[in-house]
Amino acid sequence: MFVASLKRLRTVAKKLRCPICDAEVPSDSRSLPFCSSRCRTIDLGRWLNEEYTLADARDEEEEAVPLDDEAD
Ligand SMILES: [Zn+2]
Repeated sequence: MFVASLKRLRTVAKKLRCPICDAEVPSDSRSLPFCSSRCRTIDLGRWLNEEYTLADARDEEEEAVPLDDEAD
C-alpha cells in the first residue's frame, strides 16, 4: 500500500504544468514550478509590475495631502 502511494506521488509530480505557458514541467527542472528560467522571469516580471502599480497608487494618495508647512 505504501509503495502504491509513492507511485501515485511520482505520477502527480511528473504532471506538473508551467503556470506561464502550460507546458509540462519535468520533475527535475531547476526552475520549478516553471518549465524554464525564461518562464520564471516572465512570472517575476508580472509580479514586479503589480508591485509598481501598487506603489504608484500609494504615491498619488500622499501627493493629494496639502503641504501647509512648505507654504510658510
Ligand atoms: Zn513555461
